[in-house]
Amino acid sequence: MKSYHQELWFNVPTRRAFVNITPQVEQCLAASGVSEGLLLCNAMHITASVFINDDESGLHHDYEQWLERLAPHEPVSQYRHNGYEDNADAHLKRQIMGREVVVAITGGKLHLGPWEQIFYGEFDGRRKKRVLVKIIGE
Ligand code: ZN
Repeated sequence: MKSYHQELWFNVPTRRAFVNITPQVEQCLAASGVSEGLLLCNAMHITASVFINDDESGLHHDYEQWLERLAPHEPVSQYRHNGYEDNADAHLKRQIMGREVVVAITGGKLHLGPWEQIFYGEFDGRRKKRVLVKIIGE
């Protein structure tokens, strides 16, 4: 069995953003040499997510609005966590958008559905953060 891992770094210039990381993940898969197996991709930070959905700007706007209704950033005083930080909303947004995705590898390709793309979801950006890609198989 082959095993491969790589950490992808991101430094999003805004507090929140959705970044399509499918090309970087595909590069990891190519470097791994794995043709049949599983790929795990997870955010290594508790205020960022990795998730799969459509790369459609209207949907990303809808996500932003929906998450902001569920866990508004302001006023930060509404959160106990914000006694010493201002990112409680980012922890909550991360929780609902998820930590990781697992994708099957078939014939050396990501076995995604027709509109599925892999995203890095940033909820407290303007600093360096990492995503782990771990691949096992043969
Ligand atoms: Zn925090």
